[in-house]
Amino acid sequence: MAKVSINLATGSIQKEEIIVGIDLGTTNSLVAFINPDKNAQVINDTGKGVLVPSIVHFGPAGDVTVGNEAKEFLITDPYNTIFSVKRLLGRSYKDIENYKDFFSYKVIDDDSESLVKINVGDKFYTPIELSGLILKELKARAEHALKTPVNRAVITVPAYFNDSQRQATRDAGKLAGLDVLRIVNEPTAASLAYGIGLNPEETKTIAVYDLGGGTFDVSILQIQSGIFEVLSTNGDTFLGGDDFDRAIVDYWIEKNQLNKAELVANHELAQELRLKAEEAKKAFSHQSLFNEKVGDIWCTLDRDTFEQLILPKVQQTITACENALRDAKLSIEQIDEVVMVGGSTRTGLVKKMVGDFFKRPVHDEVNPDEVVALGAAIQADILAGNRKDILLLDVTPLSLGIETMGGLMDVIIPRNSKVPTKAGRQYTTSKDGQVNMKIAVYQGERDLIKENRKLAEFELKGIPAMPAGFPKVDINFLLNADGILKIQAIELRSGVKQEVEVKPTYGITDDQVEQMLMDSITHAKEDVSQRMLIEARTEGEQMVYTVEGFIKKHGAYLSANEITATEKYIADLKSILATGEKDAILKQIDAVNEFTRPFAERLMDQAINTAMKGKSIE
Ligand code: AMP
Repeated sequence: MAKVSINLATGSIQKEEIIVGIDLGTTNSLVAFINPDKNAQVINDTGKGVLVPSIVHFGPAGDVTVGNEAKEFLITDPYNTIFSVKRLLGRSYKDIENYKDFFSYKVIDDDSESLVKINVGDKFYTPIELSGLILKELKARAEHALKTPVNRAVITVPAYFNDSQRQATRDAGKLAGLDVLRIVNEPTAASLAYGIGLNPEETKTIAVYDLGGGTFDVSILQIQSGIFEVLSTNGDTFLGGDDFDRAIVDYWIEKNQLNKAELVANHELAQELRLKAEEAKKAFSHQSLFNEKVGDIWCTLDRDTFEQLILPKVQQTITACENALRDAKLSIEQIDEVVMVGGSTRTGLVKKMVGDFFKRPVHDEVNPDEVVALGAAIQADILAGNRKDILLLDVTPLSLGIETMGGLMDVIIPRNSKVPTKAGRQYTTSKDGQVNMKIAVYQGERDLIKENRKLAEFELKGIPAMPAGFPKVDINFLLNADGILKIQAIELRSGVKQEVEVKPTYGITDDQVEQMLMDSITHAKEDVSQRMLIEARTEGEQMVYTVEGFIKKHGAYLSANEITATEKYIADLKSILATGEKDAILKQIDAVNEFTRPFAERLMDQAINTAMKGKSIE
């Protein structure tokens, strides 16, 4: 086990290269680094400010803008302006169905369980690509401000992000040309920014309260010997400062006796009022009365009334803190420190209520917008080996994963994970009646397994015959402190099980590890675009299989015309699959979905009708 740092230019180990810390946020993103005085500092690229709105706009000529310039298009060009993409990262349509109306742009609803895509004009983008564009902008700004290439980064994610969301964040970094050394939990980064957890001797339990513009979460962390463990998280992904603004606007509507429906229809006025409300909210950080006009509407509000307006929302966050404590099985007295994160924690009432709840003063000395990025920079500095006083835990030098459809590498334990570690994911079969499943284990950073190092291969046999997609196969990787990897596969419905053990570091030198890392960086872009093509192709092939099977089995429910039309759609999909153009494949998949969706619904209705027949309803 070794920690490997490489310099891109020379291929050798060089400690001086800057590794940045990136807070990839839902609303805003920012980058920080450790300056020559050894202090964490956010990057302010000349005249552009520190915060980069996490917004991407696609212009008519294929031009792409990111950040403040893109934000201007939110109102004027909503279909082509992508915001809040972090909410879609690593998610399937099923995951986001309940809040799909939140997005003004087109999220593809091919009710499958695969990852969502976004349709802009005649192109399809994955949230990974879009986040990649934001990260690319951050990289460019850092390079411009620091006047040096920036190739390595630590990126933060919410503590509640699952494996798939973390992997998606890694991939986005890769697409932006960044070697992502580690994905760090946002609350961990925030504590590091306050120096909490830097002393390996200390053991502490802390609460990190993060209230942003549109999301809220609270995490309880236990820090022991430099290891941060998340004991519990709680929150609401649709609660934040935007709700405070809305409460103020509603109050003004009532005071001025305006017609809410008319106001909502007048986008420009509604937007102006919303901005005025935000201005009032911020003003209460230093004054107690706000009195201005928008057109001839009086926008008057005092701090006491403001606090009454937002009290129910703040109370909701306190309930979440109670729940988090309960889940962590801790009492308030066991919390040693409380750290505040997110712009909305500047609100006086929020600070007061959180402090009162935890019965202690909260940490709010560091700018709450910057605290996560600053902590990420500190984590980056630790990984770079610049802090000798800090114990660096043994980490796996290369990612470990398995082969999935199309010869792709699916990472289960990412490189730089501390050992011992355990991770797993659920898989299923791709063919009806499939009874065996090949599990091939690889090591390396490339997207295609053929470029990685094979560690083991075995077959999980005796899966009971079921339709494709029904079996649930859990694959778990357990890497112990001696570097032994145990791979376990178990089909949950039947209980069939298989296990193997390998030693990933056996027969590989540090130089070879370094070379593999170098290769992954030089080939990052082509790797990711190849992966996306393979994913699109696999999805297309799966669709051909499903639709052909459907016609064979349930053709009786379709008219002759419908069958001919479906066959034409599938023939077209097959010929597009052969051409290998990602966007064209996705477009045709979408078209087939759109056309065949009513068939499945009809079949369902039919099944219900048949079931009802002969039954008397009292
Ligand atoms: P974030 O998502 O962490 O960037 O937080 C942005 C939110 O913080 C927005 O809702 C802002 O209106 C809010 N915010 C910024 N400054 C203040 C302030 N002084 N008082 C209250 N809320 C603020």
